[in-house]
Amino acid sequence: MKIIPLITGTHVTKQTPFGVLLPGHTGSVTLLEHDEQHILVDTGGRGMFHPLKIALKEHALDPSDITMIILTHLHLDHAYNVSRFPNARLFAWMHEWRDGETMRIKNIDGFRLLDTITLLQTPGHAEEHLSVVVEGDDNSTTVIAGDAVNEEYLLTGLIQSFVYDEALYRKSADRILRVADTVIPGHGRIFSPA
Ligand SMILES: [Zn+2]
Ligand SMILES: [Zn+2]
Repeated sequence: MKIIPLITGTHVTKQTPFGVLLPGHTGSVTLLEHDEQHILVDTGGRGMFHPLKIALKEHALDPSDITMIILTHLHLDHAYNVSRFPNARLFAWMHEWRDGETMRIKNIDGFRLLDTITLLQTPGHAEEHLSVVVEGDDNSTTVIAGDAVNEEYLLTGLIQSFVYDEALYRKSADRILRVADTVIPGHGRIFSPA
């Protein structure tokens, strides 16, 4: 699986449970490519569809080429543009989903979505939050972690973003740091826990 960061998430100092609606404030967007699969992990915030389209074009892709979207969680700085990829199947963790075709997975944790993509339940920042574990072409493990962990937590142990449940946040964050060679966080730069 080829892992291509398309958009770097801007830093968050304040976030509401409903996400941040400022134009240009965004979570990261990552493209995963394998054979005919073009997968996006998260879709960015308000005002980010245009930059995202340009980033896709650099990889000779159009929004209609995206085959699957995985949302780490439903805050709008990560999910704002989700409806703009007409051919993408959507994977997200929700207790309830009324519209669209639903694939029900009883236990998301450890669910193997593709050969090289596994989902982890990583609640804490949000009640329903998943992280995407990707085996890269070089056999290293990259975790696309949304808002489940960031570099500040690794360096200081402090939680600097909104949390739904602090104990759960720490449990999820520590778990990601244990398995990841590389972490692509929702906000801030890509880092290596080792
Ligand atoms: Zn975020
Ligand atoms: Zn969030």
